Amino acid sequence: MRVASVGISKHCFLFSLAFCGLLLLLIPALQPPTRQGDLPQPRPHAGPGRAGMGSANTQGNPGGLTVTAQDGESALDIELKVRSLGRGRGSGDRGINRDHTHRLGPGRGAESHRRPDQVHIPGGKGGRPVGSRSRDPLELKDIFIAVKTTKKYHKSRLELLFQTWVSQAKEQTFIFTDGEDKDLQRTGANIINTNCSAAHTRQALCCKMSVEYDKFIESQKKWFCHVDDDNYVILPSLLQLLSSYHHSQDVYLGRPSLDHPIEAAERVKSDGSVSVKFWFATGGAGFCISRGLALKMSPWASLGNFISTAEKIRLPDDCTIGYIIEALLEVMLTHTHLFHSHLENLQKLPIDTVLEQVTLSYGGFENRRNVVSIGGPFSLTEDPTRFKTVHCLLYPDTDLCSRMKPH
Ligand code: UDP
Ligand code: MN
Repeated sequence: MRVASVGISKHCFLFSLAFCGLLLLLIPALQPPTRQGDLPQPRPHAGPGRAGMGSANTQGNPGGLTVTAQDGESALDIELKVRSLGRGRGSGDRGINRDHTHRLGPGRGAESHRRPDQVHIPGGKGGRPVGSRSRDPLELKDIFIAVKTTKKYHKSRLELLFQTWVSQAKEQTFIFTDGEDKDLQRTGANIINTNCSAAHTRQALCCKMSVEYDKFIESQKKWFCHVDDDNYVILPSLLQLLSSYHHSQDVYLGRPSLDHPIEAAERVKSDGSVSVKFWFATGGAGFCISRGLALKMSPWASLGNFISTAEKIRLPDDCTIGYIIEALLEVMLTHTHLFHSHLENLQKLPIDTVLEQVTLSYGGFENRRNVVSIGGPFSLTEDPTRFKTVHCLLYPDTDLCSRMKPH
């Protein structure tokens, strides 16, 4: 009897030991694989008129996983759900599946353009405004828009921006320039004289970017967006794009000007004997960075450090931003075709998608006009850049537009 019970206990003991061993072996297999350098996943968007965002969601979730918003779930809850479901995708996003946003634009309801202050809840039912469902709806006032300019362009370029998109975002637009201008101050806009040189040199441009960065950090806003003074910002599209992400995620959004990563001698982490490859968003098309990521850039970007980082790698301001984010912080650029510079052929942008873009530009008046082909209340002579036309299609009731007779 005693012998038999000892035998049973022994078997039980051995069985438990084997079971525990099996469990221990299984633990790593059950863990979702973690990957370094994952692209931020856009928040899911659903609901009427949001087909474009839906396609972006599919792109960010290529396994065909579907996530349904439960009542009371915030956008952040849903985002976390998608992120956890999205894990385990095959790696190798780099260079292949990086364009997460270029399909956002086409197919989006045009109505959203008229309501820059309202965004629909990502993943919400019935396209109700975010404010009624989410704890954290993104508003225009959460975005810091830095416009880089120089004194000689105050009249020829800035005035047009004030007449158009800046008039709809006065509080959150900050003009970074290099010279005093009483007329500019009278506009009541946020003008920051960087005291940087007015030259078009790497040092001068990096000096301005350094001040832009510091002012953004000081502002406490959720997103930093940089544009040049020849960019039109389509505010409702910008708001919608950024609403797809959370400002605490590591997000760097923009358009590369090259079809390959740039290569530079690594002189920050090593002595320059090795090279480093990274993508960067071209400054002439504009780019955005989440606050979470901007804070991580601080050791190389704040309080003048940006200038020394740029000096070390000997690259312009936008490349230096890419270097800090991709090469030093190992966060990847999310490529988007919604940002546009005059380096591309703007005439090629399909007319029915122009208002869906996030930024536009113009150029080439001397030789060949490079502007978006869009018709509206202004002729090419009255509106050579097409910015007024775009503006009046977006905001027909504003002063500039209601005074104009249609052609
Ligand atoms: N810019 C500047 N200082 C200069 C010349 C230009 O800050 O001496 C700014 C300009 O206001 C614009 C950006 O740099 O925001 C790019 O200038 P531009 O469009 O003339 O040149 P691009 O590089 O686009 O050809
Ligand atoms: Mn330009």
